[in-house]
Amino acid sequence: MAILRVEPLTTARALRGPFDYRRPADMEGLEVGSVVRIPFGPRRILGVVVELADASELPPERLAEPIEALEAGAPAELVQLGLWVAREYCSTPSRGLRLVLPPGTGTGGRTVRSKVELRAEILPAGEAALSGDERLGVRQRAVLEALGEGEMSAAELAAAVGSDRQTLRRLEARGLVATRDSRLRRAPEAPALAAAAERPPLLADQERAVAAIVGALDGERPERELLLHGVTGSGKTEVYLAAVEAALERGLGAIVLVPEIGLAPQAVARFRARLGDRIAVLHSALSAGERYDEWRRLRSGEASVCVGPRSAVFAPVAELGLIVIDEEHDPSYKQEGDPTYDARAVARRRAADRGAVLVAGTATPRPESWLELPRIELPSRVDGLRMPPVHLVDMRTADPRSGPLHPETWEALEGVRAAGAKAIVMINRRGFAPWLTCRSCGHHWSCPNCDVSLIVHRHSGRLVCHHCAHIERQPSACPECSSTTLSQAGAGTERVEALLAERLAPMPAFRLDSDTVAARGAHARILARFGEAASGVLVGTQMVAKGHDFPEVTLSAILDADATLRFPDFRAEERTFAMVAQLAGRSGRGAAGGEVIVQTLSPGAASIAHAARHDSAGFLAGELERRRALRYPPFSHLVRIGLSAAHEQRLDQVAAALAAELRRALPAESDLLGPAPMFRVRNRHRRRLLIKASDRAGTIVAVREAVERRAADRSLREISIGIDVDPQ
Ligand code: ADP
Ligand code: ZN
Ligand code: ZN
Repeated sequence: MAILRVEPLTTARALRGPFDYRRPADMEGLEVGSVVRIPFGPRRILGVVVELADASELPPERLAEPIEALEAGAPAELVQLGLWVAREYCSTPSRGLRLVLPPGTGTGGRTVRSKVELRAEILPAGEAALSGDERLGVRQRAVLEALGEGEMSAAELAAAVGSDRQTLRRLEARGLVATRDSRLRRAPEAPALAAAAERPPLLADQERAVAAIVGALDGERPERELLLHGVTGSGKTEVYLAAVEAALERGLGAIVLVPEIGLAPQAVARFRARLGDRIAVLHSALSAGERYDEWRRLRSGEASVCVGPRSAVFAPVAELGLIVIDEEHDPSYKQEGDPTYDARAVARRRAADRGAVLVAGTATPRPESWLELPRIELPSRVDGLRMPPVHLVDMRTADPRSGPLHPETWEALEGVRAAGAKAIVMINRRGFAPWLTCRSCGHHWSCPNCDVSLIVHRHSGRLVCHHCAHIERQPSACPECSSTTLSQAGAGTERVEALLAERLAPMPAFRLDSDTVAARGAHARILARFGEAASGVLVGTQMVAKGHDFPEVTLSAILDADATLRFPDFRAEERTFAMVAQLAGRSGRGAAGGEVIVQTLSPGAASIAHAARHDSAGFLAGELERRRALRYPPFSHLVRIGLSAAHEQRLDQVAAALAAELRRALPAESDLLGPAPMFRVRNRHRRRLLIKASDRAGTIVAVREAVERRAADRSLREISIGIDVDPQ
């Protein structure tokens, strides 16, 4: 008897499958990865077949059968990968499997399916009927005549000759036409940005890089993983394109991971222009139907390259030969929610399992990749231009009343206007001003649910909490003393946009931040408008530093380079270095050259000083030393446990008990720090534990067991516990 081992798609942490089901005779085709609807206690839920077996430990009469099988399932290879993610990131099998299933499987109660249409074509008997003296109704004749011109869909026939399905069915019954269901493709809209389809002749450095990757593809070199370290503008994308083409020529598929897609419309446009329909794009801005159809095109082999953000690492690409991780330093590769997987680590695992080649590319490698991966270097810019000079502007000497831009920065921007060129200005905070206070009594507006200030958003006339959904109207008077002299201190993107637009008129300012890109396609539209403008300034958050290429930009400026540096996080230096270096990379990509201004309060910080010299190697050497001394990754593994609850006292008790238990249970050479208090968010108090470990697997098991014991304890229901393996 055939037994299906099915993992139910439930959210309960305590419940662990797989459970045995009997395979019904009419479901012969079920295999590992099939998605089935199963009776589960009193409910009917979806489950994934994770194993086929000959026998069960349970007697046959106690085994139920699946009710139905869904249209599409995941390949067996990906079932294994999803289960690996569940283990590796301390999650549940169900959550791991959800990552690899067709998009829309069992979410919100409805499952997405293919869209099909009825298509009809005329048969020889139909042709004969038209010319012969067979009896035909007026409508039937019209349908046959229309089909005589070529195959049509039922909808097209209805529009053209007013036929209905009945007419078609009768003609089919008489053997005059044939009909079939045809799957319709819901194709994603092409991005608003244009890109060239021709392939430029590669430069010598690019040729060398491609040769190294192709050598790996052909198994002529031992390395299976490569770090493509190329300065900004060194032509890394051309190398990826050539590598993908080489994989396709060998009959292999490829995955190209890019930072969150909204952030990379230019990258997608370039891949699409070159590879056309062989690529499928998977990302969250697509409709459910579009995503499903793109997934199916990969699954069926119709498309063999997938371009997408972190979740695309789970794309069902067959014969996978190559995984490219573009801008491998980008934090969006880490998923925040459960499972807290890191797409870069999943990519390495998947590539290793499949014997595929992995290429991670960036101008600013992570210390981990620098240490662990063999490197290919692209040391200079494509056009032979030198890297733009970087000026550090010491804000400690600036008059605080003169606003967020230093006089030197203004001077440089005025130079850009005079030359009719373009500039990019980055400030790491959205909104107008981060502090609103009453000048008379000192009242300060903060979030009622979180321990943070409310941010003034002047454009929408609101005060907004950036940590919860709290929004209130921007006040005109103080609720404490009725004074109307309110002070809006500090600056965000809105204020800088207003300042720039006023002082640099008539040069237009374009703002790019998560407020202006909220609408579908807005990100690409804003970049397109900036690209088309004769002259202008693009102002925004980190988004302005990412992955686009405008040769007319001769100045890029970062107003608060220390903002990321002040974060209490061991990656603060790494982040700051990447941010400054990436922003610097946006300037001077054309013949006119360019420069970079970095406003900072800490010009001596290693990250800022090295970024100013475009010196990745120097920065990474020092950073790795520091990590080794402090025993941070890549010299240890980190696991972070976050606890939150409405009641602070109870939370403290549970956090302390969990910490004590873990101190006993963790493998040797693990350090546990905490519980440390975190600021309150959404009316919940928070505590955090941090583990530094050598034995990764042993630590994960100890943490999972300790947390699951609490998840099973009903008296702890109001305390939520999250586990983040490899926190960023
Ligand atoms: P990176 O990703 O390293 O920052 P890009 O791949 O975006 O660099 O390349 C920068 C610019 O150089 C792009 O406009 C690209 O079209 C162009 N480019 C890349 N390779 C070549 C080449 N071999 N010949 C001419 N132009 C090139
Ligand atoms: Zn007041
Ligand atoms: Zn809040």
